[in-house]
Amino acid sequence: MIGGDAIELRDVLAVTPAGTKRASIIVRDGVIVDVADSSGRGIPECSGEASAAGERETCPDIPARTVIDAGGRRAVPGFIDLHIHGANGFDAMDGDVGSLRALSETLVKWGVTAYCPTTVAASRQELRKSLEATAEGVSLSRHPDWKGAEIIGSHCEGPYFARNRRGAQPESAIRAPDMREVEELWESSRETLRIFSVAPELPGAISVVEWLRERGVTVSAGHTDASFEEAMCGVKAGISQSTHTFNGMRPMTHRDPGVVCTVLTADAVDAEVIADGMHVHPEMVKLLVRVKGTDRVIAVSDLTHMAGLPPGLYSLGGTPVELTASGAFVRGTGGLAGSVSPLLIAFNNLLKWGFGMEDAVRLTSSNAARKLGLERRKGAIAPGMDADIAVLNDDGTVFLTMVGGRIVYRT
Ligand SMILES: [Zn+2]
Repeated sequence: MIGGDAIELRDVLAVTPAGTKRASIIVRDGVIVDVADSSGRGIPECSGEASAAGERETCPDIPARTVIDAGGRRAVPGFIDLHIHGANGFDAMDGDVGSLRALSETLVKWGVTAYCPTTVAASRQELRKSLEATAEGVSLSRHPDWKGAEIIGSHCEGPYFARNRRGAQPESAIRAPDMREVEELWESSRETLRIFSVAPELPGAISVVEWLRERGVTVSAGHTDASFEEAMCGVKAGISQSTHTFNGMRPMTHRDPGVVCTVLTADAVDAEVIADGMHVHPEMVKLLVRVKGTDRVIAVSDLTHMAGLPPGLYSLGGTPVELTASGAFVRGTGGLAGSVSPLLIAFNNLLKWGFGMEDAVRLTSSNAARKLGLERRKGAIAPGMDADIAVLNDDGTVFLTMVGGRIVYRT
């Protein structure tokens, strides 16, 4: 029996760990309490007409519930994005929890229900400010009055990178590993730092990897010119992820396998990949999944503050960037400057490229949840899990987003 006010997402095509099925999802107190067959088995029904979308039903013998008729639309676990710099003009580097709140509210329009605000190479002071704001966001975003995606910790991307693989990272802020600085960043994050991207070949990087690993931080090889052997040393020290695999990395060739080959062959490493169709060729995404397996690839957006804004000239951490209809490019070099395609685009792309719905869910939600140790509450539609759900229209747009049982976006 359902106790207290509940929400029923009626008639969804739910992608669950037990397969995809027509179902009604019952949510109460922020968690999924039942995923019942659409026949209504297990769901106490009121007599009379079926409710219209969003109507409230009450029966004398069961508590009130709001019913939303999803009309057979797909329901997937909300997207979990481990690599988001910003969107809609808001940036994790603003160092302001108000910005993060606005960012969270933007992201739910694209079905994102949890994410890691991600820094770029910047001064120590700017990084500390950003990590402090995220720490505040982590606690605030679980509160019922938060109307956006949950913040599940920070991703510090840099600043210890290979200059020749920096991409759009601001060169002036790239520097050598500094253990004292890492300790300060950890302190500023109030232990909410979850991912740290670093080039493992730099002098002093291995100590940084070991120190962070001991504190449970996922260390990710990124913007790196490491050889295969150098990257392997990093893996032995505790690197367990690669940052936007293929992008910002020494490429793999048959005589110089490089860090990419390490990522492909080391079982301990999960691979982030930007599946927007531009950063990595679709066939390379398929190759990556084929080699690593569907459980070891994590789609990320690398979304920047330009996502959702009109075309024009912008700045990315001081680097001039031109935003066009086809993407964001470093002015002058034409190199890619982060992404403006949210994870929803990756999900739709994966389906278009021939991946099954369950695999697309793994890559855009479940694998990220597991990576951060959140698999008992996020990344699946099943009883007992957080009610973080995206209901999608047939055209790949979002019909409704629910975070922690609250409907935070609806068309
Ligand atoms: Zn990057």
